[in-house]
Amino acid sequence: MTGEQSPSILIDGIWSTDGAEGWFTVSNPATEQPLAQVATAGAAMVDRAVQAARRAFPAWRDLGPHKRATLLQALARVVDERRDAIARIMTAEQGKPLDEARGEVSKVARTFEFYAGEAVRLLGQTIPNEEKGFLSLVEKEPIGVAAAIAPWNYPVELIGWKLGAALAAGCTLVIKPSEYTPLSAVALIECVGLAGFPAGVVNLIQGAGPTGAALVSHPDIDKIAFTGSVSVGEDIFRTMGGIKSVSLELGGNCPMVVGASADVDAAVAGAVRRGFRNMGQICIAVNRIYVHRSLYERFLAGLVEGAGRLSIANGLERPDADLGPMTNIDGIRKVERHVADARERGARLLCGGGRPDGFSHGFFFQPTVFADCTPDTLVMSEETFGPVLGVAPFDTLDEVIAEANAGPYGLAAYVYARDVGEIFTLTRALCFGSIAVNNVDAGIMNAPYGGRKRSGIGYEHGREGMEGYLALKHVRLRHGA
Ligand code: NAD
Repeated sequence: MTGEQSPSILIDGIWSTDGAEGWFTVSNPATEQPLAQVATAGAAMVDRAVQAARRAFPAWRDLGPHKRATLLQALARVVDERRDAIARIMTAEQGKPLDEARGEVSKVARTFEFYAGEAVRLLGQTIPNEEKGFLSLVEKEPIGVAAAIAPWNYPVELIGWKLGAALAAGCTLVIKPSEYTPLSAVALIECVGLAGFPAGVVNLIQGAGPTGAALVSHPDIDKIAFTGSVSVGEDIFRTMGGIKSVSLELGGNCPMVVGASADVDAAVAGAVRRGFRNMGQICIAVNRIYVHRSLYERFLAGLVEGAGRLSIANGLERPDADLGPMTNIDGIRKVERHVADARERGARLLCGGGRPDGFSHGFFFQPTVFADCTPDTLVMSEETFGPVLGVAPFDTLDEVIAEANAGPYGLAAYVYARDVGEIFTLTRALCFGSIAVNNVDAGIMNAPYGGRKRSGIGYEHGREGMEGYLALKHVRLRHGA
């Protein structure tokens, strides 16, 4: 790939950059070399994309669930066939190792299959009435045109969740990927045309914040599905210009509690995986770990050993590496700020803390562990979105519940414990949308996924993910005397 101009915008079935407002450069975070120039959609182009989705909506809504399901199955097949090509593009622009990128693409294909199944199970309700001769029907209808806005950390999956759910529900879409990962989105959305979807059902625009703002404030958007930071989520509420259905999947600062009854080795393995995978650039990454004092030093020794075993490489050159670079320089700067803060506040640096040796270019950073972190340390109180773990000991469950629930985030929490009482005390008391116990896969395709508090509103995944694209209609029918 070179720094050539990419025909990266799809409106009404046509890939074109005519009318673009300018161009931005996408670079490889492992080499810092340019990959492509991508067109920016201004307000006029955004309007064309929304109007295309609006025109396509009635026919798509009326197509019927079986035909929509068949197309979603076809989309899953095309994505599977193109898995390697899509994954290579993702690794080149996002940085995650190729094997991991391949896994992400496969999961998206499975998401489309899941929502193909949900499309044909889109059932309403009948409700008995007090009065004789009346019946209430509750029908579910697609809400209309959806704006889907995604970040760069899972550039295919986070578009795929919205796409599968919206299409199954009968909505049409305008998608805006992150300005850091526009090419992964192009590679995914090319599959939509190849699978045989009608023109205009799925439209793709490109650009940064102003393009997203033009999209969410467009009067013809009925639903906004956003994944990204808390601050932009809050901006969307201010700028969307009217009453629209909104789902927001925002940031987290996720705790792991290692109880007195925990299997320490399992907890260490979970912390290494969910703390450092994708360089910690995961909304449900473990950020802060509270370990029962009786297990504290054993856990820390295991964690440092586990972190030290992780391989770091350019993920195109070494597909099975554990870690690639971070995706952008802003991420590195935030990590450096959090590392400096932890040092200043007296936390004990056990490993990492800076850029690794052996890389002349690229946004690489060492897996980093701080022990004895106080609650006011940034790694314990804010989303780092990088490969830094803060650890602290605790003595009682009441104390750790208060610590874990402190702060504005409520996305996911992790618990390691074997005692049933300890497990249920923690899962009942922790205020998070997802809690994984003795594992770190808090999100699965067929269970609802969403945040509490400032981590968001609404759900993705599962049947609930599709419900967000549906509106209820109560029809009260008088059918007799
Ligand atoms: P971001 O909020 O900066 O950007 C997300 C998207 O919003 C991008 O496409 C961006 O161009 C667009 N955008 C920016 N300003 C906008 C505006 N005013 N109006 C509309 N759109 C606008 O986030 P990011 O840096 O791309 O991603 C990292 C963040 O995403 C982290 O906070 C992470 O926790 C969060 N995230 C959350 C989940 C989840 O499921 N809860 C999943 C992944 C990432």
